[in-house]
Amino acid sequence: MSRFFTGTLSALKPYTPGEQPQDMKYVKLNTNESPYAPSDKAKEIAKEHLRELNLYSDPEGRLVRDKLSEMYGVSADNIVLGNGSDELLFFSFRAFCDEGMPALFPDITYGFYPVFAEINRVPYEEIPLREDLSIDISDYADKKGTVFIANPNAPTGRTLSIGEIEKLAASRPDSVVVIDEAYVDFGAESAVRLTEKYENILVIQTFSKSRSLAGARIGFAIGSRELIADLNTIRYSFNPYNINSMTLAMAYGVLCDEERVRDNCKRIAENRDYTASRLKELGFEVIDSKANFVFVRSEAIDGERLYTGLKEKGVLVRHFTKERIKDYNRITIGTREETDILIDRIRELM
Ligand code: PMP
Repeated sequence: MSRFFTGTLSALKPYTPGEQPQDMKYVKLNTNESPYAPSDKAKEIAKEHLRELNLYSDPEGRLVRDKLSEMYGVSADNIVLGNGSDELLFFSFRAFCDEGMPALFPDITYGFYPVFAEINRVPYEEIPLREDLSIDISDYADKKGTVFIANPNAPTGRTLSIGEIEKLAASRPDSVVVIDEAYVDFGAESAVRLTEKYENILVIQTFSKSRSLAGARIGFAIGSRELIADLNTIRYSFNPYNINSMTLAMAYGVLCDEERVRDNCKRIAENRDYTASRLKELGFEVIDSKANFVFVRSEAIDGERLYTGLKEKGVLVRHFTKERIKDYNRITIGTREETDILIDRIRELM
């Protein structure tokens, strides 16, 4: 740290992204990307819609918002785009939390939430998951604060039902409930339709997982006009051109080939079942997942040893050092061929 770094953030511990090593070719099952590249059709459409780069990108992202509006049955005024859903999560902490409105989220969830709270200097409370790593919404009942819930949750893969989300939002009309649906397309139910009835629900989704665009950096939020206007106030106070023209064109292209996206999700869900059953054969405990990853542990091999052993053998998975989950690894669902390599390598290690 330089002596110039602001004292107010001197204790900030930044988020550690999953490794993206370039030293060799790994079977990469550590950052929940899609194993499938965007389709040729999506790329062709993107080319036709790419705006010249001497011009700024459209700060309104009209092309993409109009298409999303059609697809999700909400007005374009109910949608805002972000540079990855991470940016929209950051904006939400900025817009809907402060000294008097803390952030509330599970103790085991997306590791960026506490970092966003810290950088925005917002107090936060981590609410313990149940023993089986599921969320009990009644734990949030008597607490004041803006709630952040990933559904499916990461890294567990467990989901809340839409009924539970509705109950949670209805029970706390004076605070925002942010539902982070980064993994929703792999088998959970979206809360988008609840955003019409509940002005306090904000749904955040991403193009990084089911839509194969992790490298393009784009996500979107859907909520009441007022919530979206608040996020735009933050966005226009920070970076109006937050989505570049290449990304806008590519995102539009991918939205024009939804059939491919649906097929990919189906293939990944099928391979999730296959991966889970192969791991169970090896004696792993596999948490029931609706996401494009599984969260697993085994009494026969320590969590960290599995992670390092697999890395040495060219397979990357994600291990977290937090005490409560240090026995586990989170394994992204790739192709069936990648699963077969993973299983062979685990066998060798065991
Ligand atoms: N939410 C959750 C739960 C995630 O796991 C991720 C991916 N790391 C994100 C949001 C952010 O995704 P992106 O910024 O790529 O849209």
